[in-house]
Amino acid sequence: MAQYDTHVTDVLVIGAGLAGERAAIESARSGLNVTLLSLVPPRRSHSAAAQGGMQAALGNTAKGKGDSPDVHFMDTVKGSDWGCEQDVARMFAETAPIVMREMAHWGVPWSRVTTEPRIYEGEEIHEDPEKVGLIAARNFGGTAKWRTCYTSDGTGHTVLYTMDSMVMKYGITVHDRVEALSLIQDGDTCYGAIVRDMRNGELIVYTARSTVIATGGYGRLYGASTNAVINEGSGMFVAQDTGVVPLGNMEAVQFHPTGIVPSWILITEGARGDGGHLLDKNGYRFMPDYEPKKKELASRDVVSRRMMQHIRAGYGVESPYGDHLWLDIRHLGAKHINTNLREIATICREFNGIDPIHELIPVRPTQHYSMGGIRTNKYGQAYGLKNLYALGEAACWDLHGFNRLGGNSLAETVVAGKIIGEKIAEFTQDASLNVSSSLIEEHLHKQQQRIDDLREGKNGKENAVEIRKRMEQVLSEKVHIFRTGEHLEEAVKELKELHERSLHIGLRGSGKGGDPEMASALRLPGMVRLALSIAKGAYARTESRGSHFREDYPKRDDENWLKRTLSYWREGSSEPELHYEPVTITESQPGDRGYGEATAGPKTK
Ligand SMILES: Cc1cc2nc3c(=O)[nH]c(=O)nc-3n(C[C@H](O)[C@H](O)[C@H](O)COP(=O)(O)OP(=O)(O)OC[C@H]3O[C@@H](n4cnc5c(N)ncnc54)[C@H](O)[C@@H]3O)c2cc1C
Repeated sequence: MAQYDTHVTDVLVIGAGLAGERAAIESARSGLNVTLLSLVPPRRSHSAAAQGGMQAALGNTAKGKGDSPDVHFMDTVKGSDWGCEQDVARMFAETAPIVMREMAHWGVPWSRVTTEPRIYEGEEIHEDPEKVGLIAARNFGGTAKWRTCYTSDGTGHTVLYTMDSMVMKYGITVHDRVEALSLIQDGDTCYGAIVRDMRNGELIVYTARSTVIATGGYGRLYGASTNAVINEGSGMFVAQDTGVVPLGNMEAVQFHPTGIVPSWILITEGARGDGGHLLDKNGYRFMPDYEPKKKELASRDVVSRRMMQHIRAGYGVESPYGDHLWLDIRHLGAKHINTNLREIATICREFNGIDPIHELIPVRPTQHYSMGGIRTNKYGQAYGLKNLYALGEAACWDLHGFNRLGGNSLAETVVAGKIIGEKIAEFTQDASLNVSSSLIEEHLHKQQQRIDDLREGKNGKENAVEIRKRMEQVLSEKVHIFRTGEHLEEAVKELKELHERSLHIGLRGSGKGGDPEMASALRLPGMVRLALSIAKGAYARTESRGSHFREDYPKRDDENWLKRTLSYWREGSSEPELHYEPVTITESQPGDRGYGEATAGPKTK
């Protein structure tokens, strides 16, 4: 075997966002040797972009009085449209307050309850003087109580920086600018990963007693997404490519109501939570007509559909980038905007040249979150392979079902990091690393062969950029907010053709060293496979649930579809194989979400 750089560790964590770092800390705390891998320096992971906050039932604020994990649990289950694992949701809601307080001790500068009264939707809010100084919460995610903890509007940033400081404190080894290409596994057990050094293009072997995937979401499959450019779902297809690990509910894709037009950068839901309104081309606030109870703060799937419905009805504002609507936060005033919504004010000023204190913000629903991912049990163990774990947005734990609540995913990363991290530490103590060099060599050889074939132009002449653009278009046109059987069938057919083409990519450059063209060429077939799992899962699911809305099957169907899609990719296959498993119901039988039902629609023309 040729000489390759090899690392041996107890716990290998692929992905250094909040989920990966939090799980790594838990393992390191128990004395295990932990190695974290990342495409970028950990503090540049996508988690840093989260502005809004994280949910935990602390009940410190006047509007959060009476909150409890029970209420949080119910909000989560309803939000998921009864598609989530209720035992996971229960564990999550109970653990979230503990984790928030723990992070306060680690140094997260949570915004605190103050004495200053606030006007919200015409009502004056006075805080309990005894609660002043405790962790505050904002209105977010359409929850029954205000429970989203935040640090101004840079929550992800401050939490990730704090977490990364803890990673350093525990002496965890971090290797950045590396990309996991495949798992070392024998169809039964996982032994680590084959990784490409993005600086020099060399392959590296990492073997471990436990391997953890925390690589975040796949938003960039859609092109127009609030996700960072590094969010291409590679951890998901690395797992699916084993042939034995399934992805769960890939058709469950969240569209956020307010991506700013045309860069699609997120304007946080905190803007609506703090009292922002959605307006149409006539300056009319239309959401109360569609959703009289929750208005702009119905769940994200519902608000996104209402907005698209309103645009379809002819009330959108025409623009060179397609019709959009307006977000109005002017009435919140300069002081509030410049403190609580400071980052979005900066985004508006720097990317659109507008001042949200005086001007309207152009917005349209945009791909935002991947509810689907590597299917695991409640301890984060991936289905199909021993010693493999997944958590965070890359996983389908499954806390979110068919719609995750605003503020629940950042919270999921750290809550799952704690719960699953503890389990990983416990299981790793008992796991041995007994991997044969021939197995490592087999996996290395396969990846080296892919690289060599691309370098030597053996595969063909297909243009990776063209294939990728077309994949993005197919998803955006046919696997979006409103879905029909006819369009989904076409999408599956076209994505299968694109997948075949992606296996015959020819490079324009030499592919030598750390060539980024090589990195994209290696990644693209896996990305198209993910797109196919989304499209085929959506085509097969003949009901509407949460973010998955079938115009030809507009009702939720609890008789036939109270189940989770499991999508496998068998080696050499041209499309995924779908299986199903029941959803775990423990405390709450499927019922009315309290929002999202068909209503009369807008009152003005
Ligand atoms: C703009 C925006 C704002 C958001 N705001 C909120 C919010 O206010 N509240 C909330 O609850 N949620 C929010 N979310 C969602 C939330 O931020 C994410 O779900 C969460 O941060 C994901 O964390 P993660 O650790 O799973 O992944 P990430 O933070 O995406 O980290 C993934 C890591 O994996 C690494 N990686 C990826 N592939 C590979 C590979 N092949 N090899 C090696 N490393 C790899 C990356 O380098 C990175 O370190 C927001 C999302 C967006 C897009």
